[in-house]
Amino acid sequence: MKRSRSLRDLWASLLPIVGGAVALAVAFEVPRLVAGPPVPAWLLVTLLLAGAALACHRPAVGITTLGLGVMVLPVAFRLGGAARGAALAAGALIVSDLCLRLIRSLAALQPPERRALLPRVLEDAGRTAFAALAAGAVWTWLLGRWSPVAVLATAAAVWFLMEIGLDAADHKIRRPEAPLRWRQMLTPLSLDLGGWIAGAGLLRVGDAAGWTLTAFLALCFVALAVETIRHGLLREKAQFRARDLERLRRAAQRISTPAGEMASIAERIRVECEKVIHFFWFHFEALAPGSEFKSWWWGPESEILEDGVPEPDLYPPKLPGFHKRTSWQIVERQLRSRPDGTILGRIRLWCDPRRIDERKIELLDRLLPQMTLSVQRCLLDREAREDPLTGVAMRRVLEKRLHEVHTRACETGESMAVILCDLDHFKRINDTWGHPAGDAALVAVAGVLKQLRRGEDLCCRYGGEEFVLLMEGTHGEDALAVAERLRYSIEALDFKVDEQRVPLTLSAGVASFPDLYVKTAAELILFADEALYEAKRRGRNRCLLDIGQGRYLDVEGEVLTTEEVHPAAEVPRIFA
Ligand code: GH3
Ligand code: MG
Ligand code: MG
Repeated sequence: MKRSRSLRDLWASLLPIVGGAVALAVAFEVPRLVAGPPVPAWLLVTLLLAGAALACHRPAVGITTLGLGVMVLPVAFRLGGAARGAALAAGALIVSDLCLRLIRSLAALQPPERRALLPRVLEDAGRTAFAALAAGAVWTWLLGRWSPVAVLATAAAVWFLMEIGLDAADHKIRRPEAPLRWRQMLTPLSLDLGGWIAGAGLLRVGDAAGWTLTAFLALCFVALAVETIRHGLLREKAQFRARDLERLRRAAQRISTPAGEMASIAERIRVECEKVIHFFWFHFEALAPGSEFKSWWWGPESEILEDGVPEPDLYPPKLPGFHKRTSWQIVERQLRSRPDGTILGRIRLWCDPRRIDERKIELLDRLLPQMTLSVQRCLLDREAREDPLTGVAMRRVLEKRLHEVHTRACETGESMAVILCDLDHFKRINDTWGHPAGDAALVAVAGVLKQLRRGEDLCCRYGGEEFVLLMEGTHGEDALAVAERLRYSIEALDFKVDEQRVPLTLSAGVASFPDLYVKTAAELILFADEALYEAKRRGRNRCLLDIGQGRYLDVEGEVLTTEEVHPAAEVPRIFA
């Protein structure tokens, strides 16, 4: 159990001092009580309440304070015997635990319980009864032989050792791999011990001042009860706050880890929303100006985010028992960039208003800046990676990937290929139909390229109207076949400007490693460029694979050499 050393805790640890004073007072008086008239019921009840209050003070550690161990038990043992005394201790613990829960629920604080209530209370009560029995037995056995102070000290020591022993055993059973933290276990107990000693001192002062025992006890109990409740609540609140902050910190960390695509950002946002708030349907829209509109949704039966908008049921599902039918509470939040306030996205959560908690909505709101930031980062990332016109990768991305793929290929002996393609007579398209038409043609060609690439291929705009397709694990001839499919698709493309079909063709040069042994990936592009040049020279609208030493392979399997063709053989097909 982690203990903070804040001032508040120091103040709270004054409690055992008060408890100690009470305990010693009782211990000094017990022989007189037993010998004298019967113990008044109010004293017993007050003692029990004090025990419960002290238990509330440190509910998580079990009862290590004087409340039960030394103050209540001696009396209980003298009056009722060891078994009743132990039962009393366990009962007091259950009462205290329930008191604490009542206080929590009255204060509308619902702590997330890790363990179920019953096993937890039973376990703590069992432990307490066990340790109490040991201390009580010593007390009962020794009283009459030793002085009350010696008996008290012995019982306290037994209690002390039992608690440590049980703590250690508990720790070893639950987390056998973790080392025992003696200091952490001893600190609270030492505080209590300090409290007992200080209490004895106080009692002496009280005696000297001539206070009556009853007045002294009453004073102690009032202080004890007030402080216990105050401290308990403050501690709970601080714990919730710390837990919330920690949850937010972790969520923010998870959201802002680079995620790449917007879809994975949306999924991450959904997962984080799920952690802070209970919802049934989720909808995320990417609304950043300039980038394409996208929308994903998730419902109770979805396994992954799906494209589109959700179609939620009319009402939230029925709750067990009798409940009024209610409509959804739709929590809608916009992700706005700062400082200009541009809307980058929107999330919508369909929640059941009967199960929603304002604190959770507050948590969600506190996560919004982080969500916005990750969307923003994703957009910036994409901006840096993607060509704004065609949406394929930029040249610098290709250069980086080429290097990576080539290094991997050198290590594994796998092959890799690049296709460098260039639109034929593109200048004429610009000149004839204008630049916007040229741009549209580039977009159309990029669309075909994106369709043709396999999942791991990289498609990139290499220059003005030149594109590169980088294919890992592909041999030269296979790449040539892909290039040919691309050439054919572009030739067959129904590209229109002003209702008029504009024929497009492209030429492609292909080069592959290790068919061509290159030291750097950039050299591979040079070979592909040579093949492209040769394809252009041979009349365009064709694909050639560079097989080295000035030889090229065409799709028919024919090997061509640089010298074979006369420049005059070039036949401009489109604009001839
Ligand atoms: P070739 O068949 O030999 O390739 O002839 P070509 O006309 O295509 O010649 P080249 O490849 O040298 O021409 C490139 C032209 O592409 C020049 C430029 O006007 C045009 N271009 C480059 N980038 C863009 C662009 O982003 N949009 C438009 N519309 N045109 C561009
Ligand atoms: Mg060109
Ligand atoms: Mg060009």
